Amino acid sequence: MSYTAKMPVLFLGHGSPMNAIEENEFVTGFSNIAKEIPKPNAILCVSAHWETKGTFVTAMENPKTIHDFGGFPQELFAVQYPAPGSPGLAEETKSLITKTEVGLDDKWGLDHGAWSVIKHLYPNADIPVIQMSLDYSQTPRYHYELAQQIKSLREKGVLIIGSGNMVHNLRMVAWQKLNENFGFDWAIEASEKMKKYILSGDHQELINYRSHGKVFDLAIPTPEHYLPLLYSLALKDENDQVCLFNDKALAGSLTMTSVKIG
Ligand code: ZN
Repeated sequence: MSYTAKMPVLFLGHGSPMNAIEENEFVTGFSNIAKEIPKPNAILCVSAHWETKGTFVTAMENPKTIHDFGGFPQELFAVQYPAPGSPGLAEETKSLITKTEVGLDDKWGLDHGAWSVIKHLYPNADIPVIQMSLDYSQTPRYHYELAQQIKSLREKGVLIIGSGNMVHNLRMVAWQKLNENFGFDWAIEASEKMKKYILSGDHQELINYRSHGKVFDLAIPTPEHYLPLLYSLALKDENDQVCLFNDKALAGSLTMTSVKIG
């Protein structure tokens, strides 16, 4: 891939899979952000929904649309996002990472952490997409340092997207307020602290999130929806602007807060 102006990096709060087929303020936020950035040559997505032992990148020509959820309407299972893959980008990503041996995967595809949001950015599915997995055996600092090794892809027209949710506690969801912009006190407190660290560039505090006590423990009961944020932040250059969008709490225990870097 040839060199281009440096691409921004995104972290997208993906929320419910239903966002794939709904029209709401968050979906509008996704499609608006795509209009603010140059059209990428390819996309590399780190999704909360692909956890593996070791790190893998999808390397097939045509990744399948994976419907990795249950209990949703048939309409959602019918969604296809037929973006091509990019075996070339998979190889390049593998060659950039020296921290571990990255495996080339031919079985995964695009999970809903990737397609349910990318389809709103690029509805024509005409940009190649690869995914990189989250190694569930590793520490937050390891993930941050691993991500730093692919920073040069930003200069090759690759849009890198972390897809998760900063505050994500499904056991605490206020089911009677499912579609309301409502956050429990602990969710708001955790969210405000996270945003403060993001905007001040204090990434160490975000890497050491386990040292922030009860509100962070409630906001991040398991790491997989939070770690994609660390991937995105690790790709920030000193002079990059950082802005937030879709910055709302939802259903008590989720935040949809998304970040554009650069
Ligand atoms: Zn999710």
